Amino acid sequence: MAPTPDAPGSDALDHLRELVRIPTMSRTDVAETEWAPFDSFIEALPRLYPALHGALDREIVAGHSLLYRWAGTEPSSAPTVLMAHYDVVPATEEGWEHPPFAAELSGAGDEQLVWGRGTLDDKGSLVAALEGVEAAVLAGVVPRADLYLSFGHDEETVGSGAQAIVELLASRGIRPGFVLDEGGAVVEGIFPGVTQPIAVVGVSEKGIVTVTLTVEQGGGHASTPPKLSATARLARAIVRLNRKPFRSGFTPTNLEMIETLGGHTSGPLHWVFGNLWLTRPLLLGLFGRLSDETAAMIRTTQAVTQLSGSQAANALAERATATVNIRVAVGSSVAAAVEHVRRAIRDPEVVIAVPQASEPSPVSPTSGPAWDLLRSTIADSYPGTIVTPYVMLAASDSRHYARISDNVYRFSPFRMSKQERGTLHAMNERMHVATFLRGVEFYTRLVRSLGSEN
Ligand SMILES: [Zn+2]
Repeated sequence: MAPTPDAPGSDALDHLRELVRIPTMSRTDVAETEWAPFDSFIEALPRLYPALHGALDREIVAGHSLLYRWAGTEPSSAPTVLMAHYDVVPATEEGWEHPPFAAELSGAGDEQLVWGRGTLDDKGSLVAALEGVEAAVLAGVVPRADLYLSFGHDEETVGSGAQAIVELLASRGIRPGFVLDEGGAVVEGIFPGVTQPIAVVGVSEKGIVTVTLTVEQGGGHASTPPKLSATARLARAIVRLNRKPFRSGFTPTNLEMIETLGGHTSGPLHWVFGNLWLTRPLLLGLFGRLSDETAAMIRTTQAVTQLSGSQAANALAERATATVNIRVAVGSSVAAAVEHVRRAIRDPEVVIAVPQASEPSPVSPTSGPAWDLLRSTIADSYPGTIVTPYVMLAASDSRHYARISDNVYRFSPFRMSKQERGTLHAMNERMHVATFLRGVEFYTRLVRSLGSEN
């Protein structure tokens, strides 16, 4: 059946399946990346979206990232950017119920699932955005402001593609009025007392710091160890660090979320959330204990992720190292995080280095035309859903856009259960077909709202 503008998504599922079958896996060591699938992916798009490729200009940036521009009728209006990425985290067939790159379907009706690496992260969004634009072009819609599609090829590793696109746009003096990338989703059961589905929209994201701790010592034989070996000294530092979590506190975004969601609770909870001036300390304690997710929302987190010591069982380590991954809360800074580590460890023999750092991103407003459009499009696509801002705990490509736009939002228009969220970057990634089609509807609405019919 030919796609018609009135039936968005009629071919969308086939397109998603075809693109999920192309194993565009990002490798941490970029030299190990196989580029042939990336080339195939780029080649497949004009065949799947002929109308779009007729109406939009396409540039290939940084080797494999894609930047499309659809010229608007009002060149003076601030452009819109719809972002996604088409690289995926590596997967092998081991442990998968359906192979990761086969895009198999299971179940039927509302329970039908499409399986595969990239369905949720992030080819689902990418395909939904392409479907929305293709349908709009076929319907004779033209955007008022320029509309860009910005598709990164290495979000899961270095994010160089998105960075290069932002540099290119900046060099052309472009300041988007609205940027939308992956991030929050439509979720349920995340907030006490709220039974309706909740659309969480990321208005900011935490910063990231990688800190290394190194202790160096003249090695020697393990039969004659010193009182405090390099590894023991390092272990003491880690224990001291673990005993000193960062101080907790609500950010303005946290408070706005609590107020928004609290308004939908009833009884005693309604009172608790409605009287934050009194109940704030109590809630802070509750967030700290409720789950790892709520605990991460209220503070900078630190996790020791890598350890190394001696190469041999009977040799003392000449050098012992630990890597600490820190996620910096909005409102705090990289410098404050490093200072915290130094103070917690209080040992000058442990050398602290900072190989990688990025500050938390600025907070996008929860008012104004971009927010209002996003909010109303969510409301139309998911009736009865509460829309709330939140701070994203993970990092996305969209943080690069903060340089050139004040309105950067992170939201994937899909309903995701806790179980489905658990398959992100893990085995058995999958999505409900009905949810995917709803996401296509979301982008179709959004793109139409940005344009006028000719
Ligand atoms: Zn992603």
